[in-house]
Amino acid sequence: MKERLAELMHIEWLEVMAKQGYHARNTCGLYYTDTCDHCRDGLVPWANLPEEVKEVNRRGVTRILAYLGLTPEMAEEMVRAQKLQRRQR
Ligand SMILES: [Zn+2]
Repeated sequence: MKERLAELMHIEWLEVMAKQGYHARNTCGLYYTDTCDHCRDGLVPWANLPEEVKEVNRRGVTRILAYLGLTPEMAEEMVRAQKLQRRQR
């Protein structure tokens, strides 16, 4: 669950950056070694992100959950319970 939330944060960031005209270096259209003002690192799918960048989002999720008074394990349990409830309706 924590991993999925971290990925969703990344997806949101990708959308915001794309709306602002930013792009990955390999989609710039300039020569591979050149960059423009709108080239940004990290504008790649979650699976392609370096672990240290993913870790930033994971820490962000932990921080948000802590703000809500939850540990990742508590949040996991809440999601599991909600899914179970939905199935029983
Ligand atoms: Zn560019």
